[in-house]
Amino acid sequence: MLKKTYEYLTGRYHPDLVPCQQSEMKLIHHEMVDHLNELAKSLSDSGFDLFILSGYRNHLDQLRIWNEKVEGQRPILDDEGNAIDIKLMSDEDIVKNICRWSAIPGASRHHWGTDVDIICKNSIPSEDYKVQLTPAEVHSNGIFGAFHQKLDEILESNLNFHRPYKEDLGGVSPERWHLSYSPISSDLLSKYTIEIFEKNIIETDIHLKEVLLHDLEHFYETYVLNVSPGAQNT
Ligand SMILES: [Zn+2]
Repeated sequence: MLKKTYEYLTGRYHPDLVPCQQSEMKLIHHEMVDHLNELAKSLSDSGFDLFILSGYRNHLDQLRIWNEKVEGQRPILDDEGNAIDIKLMSDEDIVKNICRWSAIPGASRHHWGTDVDIICKNSIPSEDYKVQLTPAEVHSNGIFGAFHQKLDEILESNLNFHRPYKEDLGGVSPERWHLSYSPISSDLLSKYTIEIFEKNIIETDIHLKEVLLHDLEHFYETYVLNVSPGAQNT
């Protein structure tokens, strides 16, 4: 049984984290460690050095990202990954644009420790290159294209992991770099009810809260539930 379900699902409590071997101090769910190491081994056998750029993220980290976007301190991106001007945009459109690339605080899969953003370390072209996780980088012609192609092949038979943002389902933009440990994340998603979603927004000091509460069901369905499932759930 999951203890403190609400806190656990919304990034306020997570007792199951350990540092992972494919990063500098990034935290992941301890139950996925062996499987992640196995995946890293399969990739390295093909010459690709798996690196975790982002693992567990807590509620406050996600809240900071969101609020800084609304305040204009961080860029809000269009579908190609270019910064857009929100000055003349309605509050509803600002929220929808943020949701394409950034999860609502308390509703990020990174809160669960089961989801990671990945790159291939030995595909970075030079030491000064700053990885940005853009569609161009993971495109088949991009610097991480070959790495993701190999990963796609591996995931055909490795059912422990899946890409929840594999394709554009009208919610979150496709994020080829986002990988999920399916056995646990699928279970956590099934526990993430609209009641939890609502309580979280009410209790969070989030900018444009009224927009989210006004259209609660839409935001829950479009940006939380609307993901590609793991192979075990298809
Ligand atoms: Zn991610």
